[in-house]
Amino acid sequence: MMPGVEIEPRRFCSGNQSWETRSDVSAFPRLAPEFTQGELFCRVMGETDAHGGLSLRITIAGGLTLTCQRCLGALQHDVQIAYRLLLARSASELERLDADPDCDAILIEAALDLVALVEDEVLLSLPLAAMHAEGECPSGDVQIFKE
Ligand SMILES: [Zn+2]
Repeated sequence: MMPGVEIEPRRFCSGNQSWETRSDVSAFPRLAPEFTQGELFCRVMGETDAHGGLSLRITIAGGLTLTCQRCLGALQHDVQIAYRLLLARSASELERLDADPDCDAILIEAALDLVALVEDEVLLSLPLAAMHAEGECPSGDVQIFKE
């Protein structure tokens, strides 16, 4: 299992630091139970804009496999996440950033775990019901019991 990667967001952004990993999905503590196989590439880059605004540029990509809840067969789930997360330095800045529908903002904290951040994003990308589209389960050993 991958240990957490804790950063200090202010220092991470002001120093233009970055973190990246290419890991098997089984290495992520909260993703391992959800997926049967797959690999994820993750990159988080700290940025500071001309006005001192802090943000994280987040890229997550990979092909994962989970279990179809209809046929219990393998279901491919591709992850392509790329966005900028703004880190508000005060409640009033958060309010201002939140007013822009194109922005994703959270209040900055003293510490942030990048592995947990990546896990949250991947879990949010999952469909509510993990299954092939109606009638698209691979045929053959599929058995559907109806009353
Ligand atoms: Zn299926």
